[in-house]
Amino acid sequence: MTALLDDFLSGDPSRVLHATWETIASRDIAVLRPLVPAVPRIRRATEALDLGGIIYANRGHLDHALDKLAQFDAGECWCAGYVGILTFDPKKEEAVDHVRIVSTSEPGWSMTYQCECVVCGLTFDVEQGDHHFMWWKWVPRGAIRPLPKR
Ligand SMILES: [Zn+2]
Repeated sequence: MTALLDDFLSGDPSRVLHATWETIASRDIAVLRPLVPAVPRIRRATEALDLGGIIYANRGHLDHALDKLAQFDAGECWCAGYVGILTFDPKKEEAVDHVRIVSTSEPGWSMTYQCECVVCGLTFDVEQGDHHFMWWKWVPRGAIRPLPKR
């Protein structure tokens, strides 16, 4: 049992959310692979938990983490995980060499980015907005691609 799996199954909302964010951020196959077969157990162990969330329900973030495990299991590129969540900052993703920012609109609170996944080459249009906190909506130009074999 991995540490993250322990957290997911702990029944403790703060530990579940820790595992949720670690899973959403991770591209480590050794971390993710053991979690894949445990998704049904994680769903059962978390379905009655109150995960809170002030502006956006944390339940949605847990669902995103479990969707990411399904995408990983299906062999989809890591960039599939940008879709359907508002927390990925293009500048931070570029800083860790996950994407390349191809172009932007005039910089400001509300602006757009065009980003290219450095792994599969898929282009995303990213809208940045500010509603209580900064958010980014990633929309792929085309279908999500398979994770290239290396
Ligand atoms: Zn990609």
